[in-house]
Amino acid sequence: MGVGALTVCAGCQRYRPAGAPDCADCVAWIDADIEAAWVAEVGGLDTDGMQRHVAEAVLADPRGVAWRVVDAALARIPCYACGQGSGTGPVACEPCRLAHENRFYAAEPDRPRVPPGNEHAIRVSTVVARWPQWFPAHMVPLYASTLPLLHAGDLPTTPQAQAIKAYLDGGGDLEVFAGATSFAEVARRLRGAVRMGEPS
Ligand SMILES: [Zn+2]
Ligand SMILES: [Zn+2]
Repeated sequence: MGVGALTVCAGCQRYRPAGAPDCADCVAWIDADIEAAWVAEVGGLDTDGMQRHVAEAVLADPRGVAWRVVDAALARIPCYACGQGSGTGPVACEPCRLAHENRFYAAEPDRPRVPPGNEHAIRVSTVVARWPQWFPAHMVPLYASTLPLLHAGDLPTTPQAQAIKAYLDGGGDLEVFAGATSFAEVARRLRGAVRMGEPS
């Protein structure tokens, strides 16, 4: 923990960016996170034409390229079929679907001092929360809710992840994440919630 700070969103009062995709401020936070990686990678190229050239090269072969840079490149290159950012259009747009699927060839190197797989979890949850059209609707709020804790450097253990899923499948409320600063805390709350729900 402590890799990234938990900060409260002015728009939804949750830890950022748990309110995506419904909270515009949380969506803007995700976009800024992605854009910062692009600027760090190619911001020194002085013309839009050069940056577009890099974006096209990244999309032609995203293997080994950091995932935020790939997602920023997708946003920069309009889909030839629907005109929106590549991979961000409607589900019926086949070129967008292909671009969306290809984004997962990108690299997801973990930051120092996080559990292995933390960055992969951030990446997957970010895509679900930011471009929810590609995923079952019921997945979206859960994946968004995990993002602040993942950014803070946490990762649920398998039993924690299973307990959270079972709780939600049983009709539990995502409010269990509100203000929690670790997945262990969420799991402790679940045990309390389950106990409270049992007949005494
Ligand atoms: Zn928000
Ligand atoms: Zn499209």
